[in-house]
Amino acid sequence: MSSKTSGGEAVADTSPRIRVGVSRCLLGEEVRYDGGHKRDRYVVDVLGAYFDCVSVCPEVEIGLPIPRPPIRLVQVGGGIRVRGVRDRELDVTDALDALYLQVAHRFVGLSGFILKRASPSCGMERVKVYDESGRTVGTDAGRFARALMRENPSLPVEEEGRLHDPRLRENFITRVFAYRRWQELRAGPAGVAELQQFHASHKMLLLAHNQAGYRRLGRLVAAARSEGLDTALDAYGEGFMATLRRNATPRSHSNVLDHLAGYLKRSIDAGDRAELREVIDRYRRGLLPLVVPLTLLRHHFRRHPRGWVDQQVYLDPHPAELMLHNHV
Ligand code: SF4
Repeated sequence: MSSKTSGGEAVADTSPRIRVGVSRCLLGEEVRYDGGHKRDRYVVDVLGAYFDCVSVCPEVEIGLPIPRPPIRLVQVGGGIRVRGVRDRELDVTDALDALYLQVAHRFVGLSGFILKRASPSCGMERVKVYDESGRTVGTDAGRFARALMRENPSLPVEEEGRLHDPRLRENFITRVFAYRRWQELRAGPAGVAELQQFHASHKMLLLAHNQAGYRRLGRLVAAARSEGLDTALDAYGEGFMATLRRNATPRSHSNVLDHLAGYLKRSIDAGDRAELREVIDRYRRGLLPLVVPLTLLRHHFRRHPRGWVDQQVYLDPHPAELMLHNHV
């Protein structure tokens, strides 16, 4: 793996590479309750080439041994505890709750987090909850994951299992790169002009995810001068990431592609216009992946530049080598 892992130590935020938190067992480290690992090839071999991974194993970091007795979420009265499966006296709820604050400094500046699914500590959602007699009574997030998401509501978070779904994977990686751009804007001396520019360059991307969200963000930008820049920036950041959380669909992408094609109608001849229409329609009907109309549009805009279109993140939201648009 070409990325660095931070293990247990603090990491200074000096790297130009994107930093992403990862459940430690996914990196191939033997930290699981049974002494094994859950190395995820996509996370390590593909994403590892682009991201620096900051790893955490909550159960080890609260002092549990390797191997260790398994734990699970248990409904107790009105709340959920994290208890031993066989050892009923073992209760690590408070230790896991306290851990997040102890390690939070390592997560400053992260642009995303990849969690191990189904873990009572790391699972993002749908982790089984049992009653005290051992029957399944519902689902919840893992205890550490819950604190992570509560404290970082805009942080893109995903599970390794869901990353095998091309649409969820593309959405997550898009959000990681988008969040990084937002973090860079916030790190600089951002004024109203920078916010307007950021919003303008993300117009097509936002429209592909959620038209109503794009319009709400536009109103925040318009009010930035009258209502205070800091308030507007905070609200915009939250709204921006929430808008991107909704998956773009072939239909919403097609609308954006049609919109972009409209900028070329006086620049390309009738044959090229018909070809572009046909390619977008074939994408809409599921006969072509998104990379095809996007590549054709980029080709035409290279020959017939439009300044505003060139700035659109939508045409290039993540590295082409990840081939995320080849499968959606
Ligand atoms: S799922 Fe989380 S707590 Fe369990 S071994 Fe992996 S990193 Fe550690």
